[in-house]
Amino acid sequence: MRPIYLDNNATTRADPAVVAEMLPYFSEQFGNASSAHAFGSEVAGAVRQARRHLQALLGASFDHEIVFTSGGTEADNTAILSALDNPDGRDEIVTTAVEHPAILALTEHLAASRGVRTHLIGVDSRGRLDMESYSRALGPRTAIVSVMWANNETGTLFPVRQLAEMAHGAGALFHSDAVQAVGKIPLDLKTTEIDMLSLSGHKLHGPKGIGALYLRKGTPFNPLVRGGPQERRRRGGTENVPAIVGLGKAAELAAARIDEEQIRIRALRDRLERGILQIGHCFALGDTEYRLPNTCNIAFEHLEGEAILHHLNRAGIAASLGSACASGSMEPSHVLRAMDVPPAALRGAIRFSLSRETGIDDVVTVLNVLPEIIARLRASSPSWQARAPVAAIPSRSTELTL
Ligand code: PLP
Repeated sequence: MRPIYLDNNATTRADPAVVAEMLPYFSEQFGNASSAHAFGSEVAGAVRQARRHLQALLGASFDHEIVFTSGGTEADNTAILSALDNPDGRDEIVTTAVEHPAILALTEHLAASRGVRTHLIGVDSRGRLDMESYSRALGPRTAIVSVMWANNETGTLFPVRQLAEMAHGAGALFHSDAVQAVGKIPLDLKTTEIDMLSLSGHKLHGPKGIGALYLRKGTPFNPLVRGGPQERRRRGGTENVPAIVGLGKAAELAAARIDEEQIRIRALRDRLERGILQIGHCFALGDTEYRLPNTCNIAFEHLEGEAILHHLNRAGIAASLGSACASGSMEPSHVLRAMDVPPAALRGAIRFSLSRETGIDDVVTVLNVLPEIIARLRASSPSWQARAPVAAIPSRSTELTL
């Protein structure tokens, strides 16, 4: 049986057209984009073209900047550190309890090493931001607000336009980690006040190890990687041209297909989710109204997600526990803990994330295989035998300070 890959929030397969576009830049077009001869100028043109494709996909004006980075993590780190390095004495960060480790590990490090104060805004049981805490956390010391566009584990979308306006009202910069949103839903940055935005190639059928930081024109900026004059002195180091060209092609493909793809993928995701929920004693996590079209995260009560994944894997189906970055650790995901998912369901959450490569046959196969896996695991689970009904998820409003 053909393997079924439903872990596209972890990474996607590079589109064959992306790979084809990249190949000449390893051989014939090997020049350095900074060189002042034909080898260099051809390559510099390809890098410019990739920037244009990204600006078009983001709905950004052509005078807004795209700085190529080694991926989403570097773009996130660059945005936060750049904003803290300011002359106006603003030294606090406002972010959420459900960000990717690319933000949270950095804020923890900054708290420990420099005493930087971070306000971690909590979410409710559906993963929606606590707007009151957010509003209260903003103040004259806020240097930067960073809120993800879409959560990688549940797909929940955050109201980043409104959040950016509120951040500006407090005189702070606004950054969004849009690594999971770019290429999946249309973004129209021209109509927002967002100052900085991170994206990553391998989440949109581009190559790994390449990403970008979008910078609104005039946003104060301090480079993270210092060196040569590349990227208009925004990031030192010879450009990874094949990867940049690949990311540009991935953006071009996504922009051409996004409207039609998001409808098709949402319909498949909904069909998958409806079918799974019929198994019973399981529920969908996150804001099921406002979420990415490709993601569903289902909590199976009184079961271990690891065991479900293992059996799915044996049946040739790849899904994920929470996020790829958390797998390997037995700790329940920080996102689901922030949502106060009840303990009896916390360990049984499985994320299915679809892509343009997912077909109806894949969904049908999962729906044929999964009920039996769940029934078998329940039959051998002492905690299922002794189960008490799982209480409704309580709502909570929180703000933690690091
Ligand atoms: N931010 C989010 C929301 C992500 O999902 C990921 C990757 O999983 C990253 C950042 C990190 O991106 P990269 O793997 O390109 O460093």
